[in-house]
Amino acid sequence: MSARILVVDDLAANVRLLEARLQAEYFDVCTATNGEEAIAAARAEQPDLILLDVMMPLMDGYETCSRIKDDPSTRHIPVVMVTALEQREDRIRGLEAGADDFLTKPIDDVTMFARVRSLLRLKAVLDELRYRESNSAMSGLGGDVHDDVDASARVVIVSTDPRATTRYAAAMPAQADVRHIHEPAAAIAAARDSADLLIVDLTAPDYDGLRLCARVRSDAATRQLPILAVVRPDDIQHAVRALDLGVNDIIHRPVDAGELAARARTQLRRKRYADRLRSHLDEGMELAVTDPLTGLHNRRYISSRLRQAMDSASNGGAPVSLLLADIDHFKRINDSHGHEAGDTVLRDFAARLLQGLRALDLAARYGGEEFVVVMPGAGLAEARIAAERLRSAVAESGFRLNDGSSVPVTVSIGVAQARRGEALDSLVRRADDALYAAKNAGRNQVQAADNAAA
Ligand code: GH3
Ligand code: MG
Ligand code: MG
Repeated sequence: MSARILVVDDLAANVRLLEARLQAEYFDVCTATNGEEAIAAARAEQPDLILLDVMMPLMDGYETCSRIKDDPSTRHIPVVMVTALEQREDRIRGLEAGADDFLTKPIDDVTMFARVRSLLRLKAVLDELRYRESNSAMSGLGGDVHDDVDASARVVIVSTDPRATTRYAAAMPAQADVRHIHEPAAAIAAARDSADLLIVDLTAPDYDGLRLCARVRSDAATRQLPILAVVRPDDIQHAVRALDLGVNDIIHRPVDAGELAARARTQLRRKRYADRLRSHLDEGMELAVTDPLTGLHNRRYISSRLRQAMDSASNGGAPVSLLLADIDHFKRINDSHGHEAGDTVLRDFAARLLQGLRALDLAARYGGEEFVVVMPGAGLAEARIAAERLRSAVAESGFRLNDGSSVPVTVSIGVAQARRGEALDSLVRRADDALYAAKNAGRNQVQAADNAAA
């Protein structure tokens, strides 16, 4: 995993040392020797990670970190604080300044690279979500990583040591819903039950905590669930394996309640942020592919699906046919009953359209009072039958309006089957020509385009 890392340290020798070690692992490194420079570099270079020395003259690491995390253009960049002291106060202060992780000097490579890889994976996921969000139909997500943690967070604690579990639980946010699992076999089910954070004690001798973490990571339902693992401070290999398996953060035993609280809060905030990005994205995607009036697919979506089906048909797959339907004299409905009545007819039309289709068929509003149906697997004969079914379903009974009255509606339909290697525009044109023929021949009827190659 290649990435750009900003190294910040007031001692040039330290900078060069870290730079060399990171470059040896093919990371792209940029550097800064004080807080101001670091903030400017973070903005300008948009690194994927910042390794930030705590002890610096003028502006120390805490303040630098706070300012990076306060700036909307840099707050998504993970910050790892590098400290000379193994003091809990320092770590908690750092976490409160928004630091994502800590390394203690002298830094051992194994731990550093495991931490760095873990944070880069996380950032890659968030970047992808942020990117899609900024390109989706509904940009402008409120809030960010630094919002307060939802009071209703669900935390699952897995440990066979009841006393430890009770202490961990006490460090969770006051209103969190905390579940204790003393029987690891039950942990997966608890994690799947809309958990927001999983705390796994990896120090218990009587079960394989790493295996549990791996299973949580590989299960689609819990892939995004943050995992905080409790490890022994002398067991670096265990910690590194945990991080490489996808554990998000580790904390050493004996667990300091303040540090656990701060680390849990960081994980819960990120989870909430990612959840919100995802749900926004789903809404955005839905809007981007759906016609708001009828709930059918929109033109953009259907065009891409039609193209896929045509490609597959051209490559020897099943045939595909297209049905183009246009409501007859729709303008008159608007003119005599009003635009809203027209909208009601369009919605009812969509409903009647859907009723006559197979599960495989894709219906879309193509524009105004024009609809298309893509029928994968259907030849021209089948498509004609479906079109005739729709025509009669529309004509057989009037469309009810909001005022209780009812208007007769008819539809004209053109049908065409894709030829091998045919372009989308050509198929649509042939269906449109058939539709035009149906209008000319008196409306309320189906016409099919010639199936033979041109
Ligand atoms: P034809 O039988 O030749 O298709 O006649 P028509 O009146 O259906 O066709 P024309 O294309 O002349 O008119 C279509 C009308 O559809 C004009 C437009 O105002 C109306 N229309 C387009 N979109 C909407 C909509 O979303 N809601 C409503 N109520 N009317 C719409
Ligand atoms: Mg019309
Ligand atoms: Mg029209």
